[in-house]
Amino acid sequence: MSILTSAASTAAPTPRAQRSNDINVAIGAAYSPLGNGLSVNLWATPDMDDYAYEAVYDAARISLPDAEDNVRTQLAEHNVQVRAFLNEDGPLTAQQRGADWMTRWSCTPHCINEHGTPTAPEWHAGVPVETVHRAIDCCYSDAEKATLPFLAVKTVVSNDKPQAYGRKTQVWLDYGRSIGELSPAEGRELLESMRAFLPLFEIVVEQAERSARDDFEGDPEIARLDQEAEHRRAAAITAKERVRKSGASS
Ligand SMILES: [Zn+2]
Repeated sequence: MSILTSAASTAAPTPRAQRSNDINVAIGAAYSPLGNGLSVNLWATPDMDDYAYEAVYDAARISLPDAEDNVRTQLAEHNVQVRAFLNEDGPLTAQQRGADWMTRWSCTPHCINEHGTPTAPEWHAGVPVETVHRAIDCCYSDAEKATLPFLAVKTVVSNDKPQAYGRKTQVWLDYGRSIGELSPAEGRELLESMRAFLPLFEIVVEQAERSARDDFEGDPEIARLDQEAEHRRAAAITAKERVRKSGASS
């Protein structure tokens, strides 16, 4: 499972249907640390096709069996029994698949690509790391934002017919659906630039927080009167325009 949703509620989920109180839970190791120092994050899934709940766990903090116990306990508090855990741990790395696999596909140790399947890329990609924060671009729907990380980054190695074309290592950085293909040196440069940007970002957020103390909601009644006045003004301009045009055509 590569998806972490910070949008997902960290509050204990509510059972969807009291009559169906034994459910499946999809569980997988998170590729990035969970927010707020959590070891397990559990949420209800939007559809009931495969499973009713999903969970991710931080493998650095908790084992899979303990994560499953944690989920079982959380749900038991709501009278929900776990029927089965559907394991969605990330794909095997080439190293885990063994030397034969690595030789056959000229894989890098951390490559997770499913070589041999029709849609598998020819290059070798490591496990992506993602920001816990989801995409923020206002052109995406909330559902799209929940499935896309704000930023994700992975290494990619291209070594197809290396004697002819050589071997090239890159850092691929995703921003929403945009991909930047960087050389390691460019990746380093970007990293330094982001580091330098953070204190400036912080200053702007602090300014905004101070400014937001003076924010307030408008009066809906005054807003209604203002909109009515706007409509009257627009109608008057249209009417005047019509008169002018009819005068010009006669
Ligand atoms: Zn590979």
